[in-house]
Amino acid sequence: MRKNESDPAKPTSVIFKAAVALILVVLIGMSLLGVLSYSVYDAKTELIGRSFNFEVDRKAMEFEREVRLNLEIMFALRSGLALLPEVNRGVFHELTADVLRRAPAIHGFAYAPWLEDKDRADFERVMQTEFSAFELTQVSGNGGTDTASERSRYVPVQYIEPLKLNRAALGFDLASEPNRLAALRAARLSGEMVATAGLTLVQETENKRGILVFTPLYHGNPTTPQERRAAHYAFINGVYRIETLYKQSIGAVASGNFLVRIIDVTDGIEDVLFASGNPRDERWRSDMARVEILPDVAGRQWAVEVTPTEEYISSQRGYLPTLIMVSGSLLLVLMASYVLFTVQRNNELRKTKQELEQVSLTDGLTGLANRRHFDQYLEQEWTRAQRDGLPLSLILIDIDYFKPFNDEYGHPAGDECLKRVSDVLRTVSRRPGDLVARYGGEEFALILPQTDTAQTVAEACRLAVEALSIPHAASGTAPVVTVSAGVCTLVPQPGMSPGLLTQSTDVALYEAKAKGRNRTHMMKVASVDIEKTRTQGDNPT
Ligand code: GH3
Ligand code: MG
Ligand code: MG
Repeated sequence: MRKNESDPAKPTSVIFKAAVALILVVLIGMSLLGVLSYSVYDAKTELIGRSFNFEVDRKAMEFEREVRLNLEIMFALRSGLALLPEVNRGVFHELTADVLRRAPAIHGFAYAPWLEDKDRADFERVMQTEFSAFELTQVSGNGGTDTASERSRYVPVQYIEPLKLNRAALGFDLASEPNRLAALRAARLSGEMVATAGLTLVQETENKRGILVFTPLYHGNPTTPQERRAAHYAFINGVYRIETLYKQSIGAVASGNFLVRIIDVTDGIEDVLFASGNPRDERWRSDMARVEILPDVAGRQWAVEVTPTEEYISSQRGYLPTLIMVSGSLLLVLMASYVLFTVQRNNELRKTKQELEQVSLTDGLTGLANRRHFDQYLEQEWTRAQRDGLPLSLILIDIDYFKPFNDEYGHPAGDECLKRVSDVLRTVSRRPGDLVARYGGEEFALILPQTDTAQTVAEACRLAVEALSIPHAASGTAPVVTVSAGVCTLVPQPGMSPGLLTQSTDVALYEAKAKGRNRTHMMKVASVDIEKTRTQGDNPT
């Protein structure tokens, strides 16, 4: 065998390298996927923010429209009352009954005159003809009502519709309570519709917040505050419940996804008029709450605050970022496994191929190069030597009396002998370019490139075999196994073929046998008839 044949590439190291490269690729892939899915997440977040803002704008707009619509009704009522020569309970009922049926956010309309203290007794007396227990009242300490204490003027509720629901408010002096009084004054002087801050209504039983809106009524058309004060005689009072305004507008289409709060923010004070849910609930994403300030509502500043739930945000977000991450990772892992599998398989295939090549170039019994390998190698070295003009040597070694050995000791012993001779030949030939081959049954060949001391090597081989001292009782030359060797060295010239070398060496071997065996014989190439070898072909044995 050639001595310097490198070991086949270690399969484990190939797989290890491939695995490291793959892990790197997978890691880079995962990072890219992470970046991708995050940017999708980010883009989606912005989109959610925008669609949420749109949602808030829409809700605020719907609510504002509802408020305006309901306030407009008061204007219409004022115009109607202004046309009448006199207001009484029947007229007031006629004017308001239909409207109230159609506008559920308005829980009542009241008519309240501006009453000087001197007229209080007459006023109460007239009213008592219809409502025997009628008297002017005010808010008492315990939240109920008491007889109104004496003041310079009053704004008592004289007519109220629907009476059934609002009876408790009849006779109530609106000017007895500071919040209402402030609105009344502002309305009286400005001629505008003015709302109170949020309050609990006198007739309220469910503790819900409402507002009162006052519209002043004048004789004639006063234009300045002084003229208004002089011409003013009564108020129309609309009672609005914020919850109903909400339900009529936003609430009609609202889902549980939003917490909507209507907040009075006039003068920088935040007074929650209505909340569609419990603000302390964990569901609300308070960091995403958005506030939309409404245009002036009867002199007050209102805001619509909308807070989404976490479910709303995640339902809007969808599964795209997760899908990208999960499916991308899966794909990467699949690809990586496939590549790893392929590398492993290729590696196995290469190994098998190498083994096959090894087998086909090696002699099964001795492990030496076989005849095929010998032929290829000789051809190759012949060409090289010819090109470089260097000597090439061949030694043919033949075991002496091997047939008798087999006969004497049996075939298995013959095999064993062949192996031991092979091993010893392998150790004698030490140069990297040397090739030791099994040439035939009990014949061996050594190709020695760039060697012109081949006879020394041949002699060393012969001595080494002899030194093995394998008993050979049937030998005609020695008591141990011996070999004969033929040697030939030549510098291949143009026109020569490798056959010349094998034939010459064979002749030398024949000589060694003829001269008594257990010896080496060197063939001088000049003594070979070149023309003859050309015509005889390449196989001398
Ligand atoms: P000489 O001294 O002239 O070389 O005589 P020899 O008997 O060695 O030569 P011959 O050519 O007459 O016989 C060669 C023998 O080698 C015949 C064959 O049985 C034996 N032989 C060839 N190959 C093997 C093998 O693989 N194993 C064994 N045990 N014997 C083999
Ligand atoms: Mg022989
Ligand atoms: Mg022989």
